[in-house]
Amino acid sequence: MQDLGGKTVILRTYEATKETGLFDEVYVVTDSEVIFKEIELSGGNAIMSLKEHDCGTDRIAEAVENMDVDIVVNVQGDEPFTSKSGLEQVLSVFNGPDAEKIDLASLMTEMYDWKEISDPNAVKVIVDKDNFALYFSRSPIPYPRDKNAAVQYFKHKGIYAFRKQALLDFYQLPMRSMEAAEKIECIRYLEYGKNIKMAISNTQGIEIDTPEDLVRANKVLKEDKTITVNNKYRNFPMVPKVIFGRGSFDQLSSILAPKRKDKAPFIYLVDDVFKDNEDLINRMNLRFNDKLIFVSAEEEPKTEQVDNIVKKIKGEFTYSPSGIIGVGGGSVLDLSKAVSIMLTNKGGASEYQGWDLVKSKAIYHVGVPTISGTGAEVSRTTVLTGPEKKLGINSDYTPFDQVVLDPDLTVGVPKNQWFYTGMDCFIHCVESLNGTFLNEFSKSYGEKAYDLCKEIFLSENLSEVESRGKLMMASWHGGMSIAYSQVGIAHAMSYGLGYVLGTKHGIGNCIVFDHLEDYYSEGVRLFKEMKAYHNINIPKGICSNLSDYQMNTMIDIALGLVPLWENALGDDWESIMTRDKLRELYLKM
Ligand code: NAD
Ligand code: ZN
Repeated sequence: MQDLGGKTVILRTYEATKETGLFDEVYVVTDSEVIFKEIELSGGNAIMSLKEHDCGTDRIAEAVENMDVDIVVNVQGDEPFTSKSGLEQVLSVFNGPDAEKIDLASLMTEMYDWKEISDPNAVKVIVDKDNFALYFSRSPIPYPRDKNAAVQYFKHKGIYAFRKQALLDFYQLPMRSMEAAEKIECIRYLEYGKNIKMAISNTQGIEIDTPEDLVRANKVLKEDKTITVNNKYRNFPMVPKVIFGRGSFDQLSSILAPKRKDKAPFIYLVDDVFKDNEDLINRMNLRFNDKLIFVSAEEEPKTEQVDNIVKKIKGEFTYSPSGIIGVGGGSVLDLSKAVSIMLTNKGGASEYQGWDLVKSKAIYHVGVPTISGTGAEVSRTTVLTGPEKKLGINSDYTPFDQVVLDPDLTVGVPKNQWFYTGMDCFIHCVESLNGTFLNEFSKSYGEKAYDLCKEIFLSENLSEVESRGKLMMASWHGGMSIAYSQVGIAHAMSYGLGYVLGTKHGIGNCIVFDHLEDYYSEGVRLFKEMKAYHNINIPKGICSNLSDYQMNTMIDIALGLVPLWENALGDDWESIMTRDKLRELYLKM
């Protein structure tokens, strides 16, 4: 009943749970008259428990005994920051291939700090290879006899999703000794041989167990109001140095020279399409212990790939590098940005997927695009596919310190690829110009890039040289246009395709955009015209054989990109883009 930013903790928890839109019904089950009244008077649903209970689970079991329910989720009353993503994750396991086996599901989060690992207030969990819980304990498990062994510790989060029967069983089964010793409810299930599936969720919630927690929560609530992603004012860095022009690539060594730190090498990450291009490699002018690493753009960059490159660099050099130079398309540019960040930040790249999670300044990094359209050369993000999501590392440390724009480097890009990546730029403009976040800043860049794209892709009298220079600048402007706004529906849906099917960004955008006439009518009309003009075929039917699980994952990934939907459809986006609507669109593709 404590106050949290003008509302009680229990009411906030109730409302947050309801707002997720994941449940048919939400109830507060309580043995307290005061709490019961608080919820009822605010127009919510509350149930007074009849009997006295030892724990919340028993109380819920009593409440649902005569209800017609399938799955029941227990959200602790002291979790006002209950997030949709955590609840979605715990529910999603019931759509997985081993759903039959699951009696209940719960969440766990990675832990790294030994102080927390050894703290008995934090319940640890160990799992088998399929993430079924083996044991929960207040002791550190496993015990790290070998201090160097690589083992991931997980903290148990108090969110449970039960099949109704499991919940009723719990109610009837007497407590046994291990549960009594550890004072951890869910051990009872293990003691009776039930299967608890654990899902990983690394989003940080705040549980309110102590008065200090409440102070912290009040602070978070205040900050939350000022720091949102689509805030009105954004103070973002732009690329501080850029050189442009045919042949400007040859300036690279003199640009780098003053940045060289003693024995620290420059690391070149180069698209392996240039592996046999001796001319280009010679022009890079590697010195001393500089290192050239060829990377494949076959698949989109993964957090794991970033971690591996960082490991390789750290393993080979005792000094941190003088700089990272990325030479390639959006894939290689994004990898280079991420590697430069991860060389100075602890842990793995997946921990930084999101907005403003990067703590330390990145290593000096230079971007040299060899294909135009993504805007990755100017953007504040590096799009990565991680174990849980496809999401960028968006931070003030992400943008390049230096960019080299040499249109001649884009000679040789295959025609289809030229079109797909070029359309990424066009779609950035359409999504930004039609978005609710649009302001004059974005518009000025977006309109310029939009016009350039029309010229490049639809006019007959442009030489190849002109066209390459123009597309390079269109990409730049398109990227700047979304710096102050956001992309929209095509990108959100294309991320879903990318995550589930591995469809690459450019072609994925085209597949989706082709069917978005209801949302971007003029843009889609022009797109179709450009497609026909260049005789480009877009793959069809790619979602027709998806399993339910794949389709649901795709929808989850797409809907998880909240700022994109807010930009595209406004605050009310959730009522416009329902899961069914999205499924229907995917099936059309
Ligand atoms: P890409 O980097 O994936 O490259 C596409 C293909 O073109 C590859 O096979 C590559 O080897 C080849 N290629 C590149 N340059 C070439 C050249 N000069 N000659 C011949 N072949 C060449 O393509 P992309 O469309 O530039 O980048 C897509 C990636 O960019 C995706 O991973 C996407 O997530 C990311 N992206 C990032 C941002 C951002 O702001 N950071 C924005 C949009 C897209
Ligand atoms: Zn894009």
